[in-house]
Formats: sequence, C-alpha cells, structure tokens
Amino acid sequence: MSDPKCDIGVIGLGNMGRNLVLNLADKGFTVGVYNRTTEKTDEFMSHEAGGRSIQAGRTLREFVDLLEPPRSVLLIVSAGKAVDAVIDELTPLLGESDLIIDGGNSHFSDTDWRAAKVEKLDLGYLGMGISGGEEGARHGPSLMPGGHKQAYDRVHYILEKAAAQVDGEPCVTFLGSGSAGHYVKMVHNGIEYAFMEMIAETYDLLHRGAGLGPEQLAPIYRGWSQGELGSYLLEITARIFEVKDPQSDHFLVDMILDQAKQKGTGKWTSQDAMELQEPTPTIDGAVSMRNLSVHGQLRQQLEERLGRSEPVQIEPERLSSLLESALYTGLILTFSQGMALLAGASRKYEYGLKLEEVCRIWRGGCIIRAKLLERLRLAYQDRPDLPCLLLDHELGEQVRSGAPALREVVSLAAASGIPAPGLMASLAYLDAMRSEHLPTNLVQAQRDFFGGHTFERVDREGVFHHQWQQSRGSV
Ligand code: NDP
Repeated sequence: MSDPKCDIGVIGLGNMGRNLVLNLADKGFTVGVYNRTTEKTDEFMSHEAGGRSIQAGRTLREFVDLLEPPRSVLLIVSAGKAVDAVIDELTPLLGESDLIIDGGNSHFSDTDWRAAKVEKLDLGYLGMGISGGEEGARHGPSLMPGGHKQAYDRVHYILEKAAAQVDGEPCVTFLGSGSAGHYVKMVHNGIEYAFMEMIAETYDLLHRGAGLGPEQLAPIYRGWSQGELGSYLLEITARIFEVKDPQSDHFLVDMILDQAKQKGTGKWTSQDAMELQEPTPTIDGAVSMRNLSVHGQLRQQLEERLGRSEPVQIEPERLSSLLESALYTGLILTFSQGMALLAGASRKYEYGLKLEEVCRIWRGGCIIRAKLLERLRLAYQDRPDLPCLLLDHELGEQVRSGAPALREVVSLAAASGIPAPGLMASLAYLDAMRSEHLPTNLVQAQRDFFGGHTFERVDREGVFHHQWQQSRGSV
C-alpha cells in the first residue's frame, strides 16, 4: 500500500527549512520535502528525518505528487531570485486552488506582485514572515502570514500547531491583506537591529568604558534578562559572554571581528519608513552603525591619526544600573517607532493590521520576544487606534521615569567618546516627540528663502511666501 498523501510540502532544506520540517512532523503532520540539490535531500532523509512521517521528492513532479490536493506548499528558499525560480518551475505542476506560502524574508513589494502573478493562475498565495532562527523553526517560531484570509484558513490549523505557544495561544494569526505578513516581519527585523545595536552600546560602555571583561559581563546581562528587560536577545547575550574560544585562551566574543554583516531587512525598514515619512531614528542609526563597522581599516587609521577620548570613570555597579534603565527606555522608544511605522504602513497599503495581535504573536518564538511585548499588547487592547505608544499611561510613565538614566548614559557616552547612536537617537526621538516647539520653523524659512517652497503661519490659515532677499536687514 502506498503512503498516505502529505498534509503539507516544504521546498528548501536549508537551515530554516530542515528545522521547520522536523517541527511540522513532530506536531503530527505528514510532510513532503524537496530541495534543489538532491544530495541535501538524501542527507536529510537518512540522517535527520528518521522515523518521522516525512517523504521526499527527488524532482518537483515527484514532490507535488506526494501532496494531498488541494496542496499547500511552503517555500523556505533564499530570498530574491530563488523564490521566482521555484515559483516558475512549480506553478505549471500545481492544480487549481493549490496554495503557495513564501516563508522566506522576501521584500514586501515582491510579495505583492508575486501574489498577483500566482493568483492569476487560480492558485492561492501567502507571504509569511518567520522569526526565531533555527531554534525557533525547530521548536516553535513566530509566524507572520498575510494575503487572502481564505488562503490562511486553509492552513491555519497547521501553522497554529507549528508556532510557538504563549499562555496557550499560538504565536501566529492572519495579519492582513497583500504583503502584510512580510511587512510585519521586515519591521520586526528593523526593531531587532535597533535592540541589538543598543545592547552592543551598553556592552561598549561596560567593556571599553568601565573595563569589564566577559566573565563580569555575563552575570550583568543575565540579571537584566531576568528583570523587566527579559528578552531573547539579552538571554543569548549573557550566554555569549560565557563562551570560551576553542582555538585560543580567550573568550570567543573577544576573537570576533567587529564588522557586522546584514541581509537587508533593517535597511528595507528604514527605506520604507523614509518613504512613508514615519520617523524610525533608532533603526536608522542601527543600520548605519553596521555600515560604518565594515570600514575597519579606515577606523584604525583614524584612531591613530585623531586619537580617542578618555572614558569617563564611573563606578561599574552604578553604570550597570543606569544602563539597564536606559536600555529599557530605549527599547520602549524603539517599539514606539516600529509600531507607528506599522500603523502608517497599514493605512497606506490597506493591510488592516491589528497592532494588539502583532504584539501578541511577537511574545514568543521570535528574536525580539520580550516581556515588554505583553505590556504593549495591553496598550493596544485598551486602545486599538493608539497613535503613539508613549500616549499609553503606563508606558508613558515608564519612559518619563527612565529618561534621566537614558540622558545620563548618553552624556556619559558622548563625554567618553563611545559611540552610542541607538541610545542617542532614542533619546532625541523622545525629546523631539515631546517638544511642542521644534526648530523646523527655521527649516521652513530656509526652504522658502532659497526655493520659494512657501510656509504656513502660526497665526493664520493659508500658504505664504516671503521675498527674503528684499527684506534683508529690515526689522
Ligand atoms: P539557507 O542558505 O540555509 O538555505 C537556502 C535554501 O534555498 C536551500 O535549500 C537552497 O537549495 C535553496 N535555494 C537557493 N537558491 C535556490 C534556487 N535558485 N532554486 C531553488 N532553491 C534554491 O537559508 P535559510 O534556511 O537560512 O533561509 C531561508 C529563508 O528563510 C531566507 O529567505 C531567509 O532570509 C529566511 N529566514 C532565515 C532565518 C535564519 O535564521 N536563517 C530566520 C528567518 C528567516 P540548495 O541546497 O539547492 O542550495
């Protein structure tokens, strides 16, 4: 008797795909798999799939035939051209109402046109962000699907079982139409860049500033991760400081080149935020710092030529306590930027996002999971159309009381010559957002002076232009 047909198919047996397949099989689903390089399929089937209800196709035709119609096919291949290559090869083999789910980090605008192209063939399409890395994929990621609700309803029971669970709820929901899922994943990654940058800045202040080594840093970060800053990124940071280099006598972190790579999702967040005119200065600063970090030789040359400031001495225990508070405040301010961007994008692209649900599915499984997200969820539950997180009473109070520590840390970093653009941008965002008056009246005057771009007045309606050159010197 032949094997029963599979509940779902997965194309791509890379780091994420392999782990998701094992996760799906362990949750009781029969899974069909296919990978372009057949050696990888063979290796996976003989070394990892062991005893689970997983069947492999060596060709795409074989793979498609393994699946129960209407078929659901999850793509976890490299973002970009690979997704199109697979879709072009796959679609002629699929039948009406079959569904393709792109689970990679596709740019949201690609998802829009790909969905239109695939749906024209009477096939379903979902763009689904996945977060949690390999570990999340294996044991329960946060899943961010978007597209047509009917398509989601076809596979929701599979996704809900595969996702991380928090308080008995799966970290997945239908997020909204079109590319909503990939947009939310992109902003998730933007926030991730910002949080990582600010953590790195606290490390710099404690390490280069206060002279603490990894063995002293590990308990500090572990302590923070057990308090209100509880989060995946702080947990792994504490673990990183404990790891010795197997190839030397040093801690591994000290042997890693200080040049950060990126795959683009943080940059995309900043790019689209600029497009939508939504301020995300902490995320922008984090992307710029990664870009700056790769100029290692130039940095060395400039340090030799220009020198560096001497770090201001501060008692490490007090510094650590200031940093904990500053980082927590910076994290709220970063979420405030990211959530405002999501609200703006939802209006512009008509996603229909529910921000409470976004916070809910980020509470587990994903890289930015943090205790704070439950507080954020409650803020949107109280007021789904909250225009700015800082207007929530409790979050506003937390930021107000954390601001002095953030300001002291920023001053200390500036005085010590330690770059802290993430924390600095967070503070500037706060100070600007709570300024009834900004100096942008002068910017408007300058624009009108050199370009006749006009300005509005504080005392009457309308649009005005002034002949600035002619009134030079007049009072
Ligand atoms: P890997 O590099 O580990 O695997 C890439 C997979 O894509 C392989 O199966 C590869 O097949 C396949 N592939 C590449 N090019 C083609 C092509 N032209 N045609 C067919 N198949 C192709 O990537 P990951 O598993 O890490 O990532 C997969 C997706 O998930 C990406 O979009 C990534 O951004 C996203 N993602 C990754 C996370 C992570 O932590 N790694 C977290 C969240 C999302 P072959 O073996 O034949 O080369």
